[in-house]
Amino acid sequence: MAIFDCILFDLDDTLYSSDVGIAGFLRKNIEEFLMMTCGITAEDAFALRSELFKTYGSSLVGLRARGYNIHPDDYHSFVHGRLPYDLIRPNPSLRDLLQSIPQRRIIFTNSDMVHATRSLERLGLTGCFDGIICFETLNPDLFGSKIVLKPSVTAFNTALSISGVNPRRVLFLDDSEKNIASAKAIGLRTALVGRRRRKIAEADYLVEEICELSRVIPEIWSSAMAHEEVTSEVNSRFSLRREVHELSA
Ligand SMILES: [Mg+2]
Repeated sequence: MAIFDCILFDLDDTLYSSDVGIAGFLRKNIEEFLMMTCGITAEDAFALRSELFKTYGSSLVGLRARGYNIHPDDYHSFVHGRLPYDLIRPNPSLRDLLQSIPQRRIIFTNSDMVHATRSLERLGLTGCFDGIICFETLNPDLFGSKIVLKPSVTAFNTALSISGVNPRRVLFLDDSEKNIASAKAIGLRTALVGRRRRKIAEADYLVEEICELSRVIPEIWSSAMAHEEVTSEVNSRFSLRREVHELSA
């Protein structure tokens, strides 16, 4: 029996490398948003972004916690809408790899649906997933007072209940140590992704590049291979019987 029923994939800096440079543009856009919203200098925006990220995990959450009535759609269209998506290149070998995974494959990202869809399109991975759990899924009430995102346990529980799976049979891949630690705390199997990452206690696996998945975690495929072998043996016996039947007929 397979040891996983479902694989949850983070998107940014997991399905494509941080070396692509999208994260740098994202930071710049967030800082411009902070300058505009808070009326501060570029230097102060740099410090505020870092402070909000450390304290709240996201600038949007931090701004709202500090009383700024920011609508998530306005924030996302400003910080994601202007990203140079052409930097993300198609990855056909990743597409083949993902399609060979026998378990359910679900994207679990804090990003909004427009960003997730555009990034997956650029990567050539449209249609490779059974579902996308994103900002809007985690926060169906966009006017709600509290925003739910990874690494909060609530975000993980929402993702698990949507996926309808037993946490102990889920593999979760992400480039964030904080997200990996939360996932481990609620019983998921975890893989930290990224070339500059070091193995942490909460990570069951360290995957430097997503395309190395089959080498680092062959268990994903092991029972499927066993199943295929059984199936092909059954098929060959069946065709042998049929040939025998046809010869004797
Ligand atoms: Mg990420």
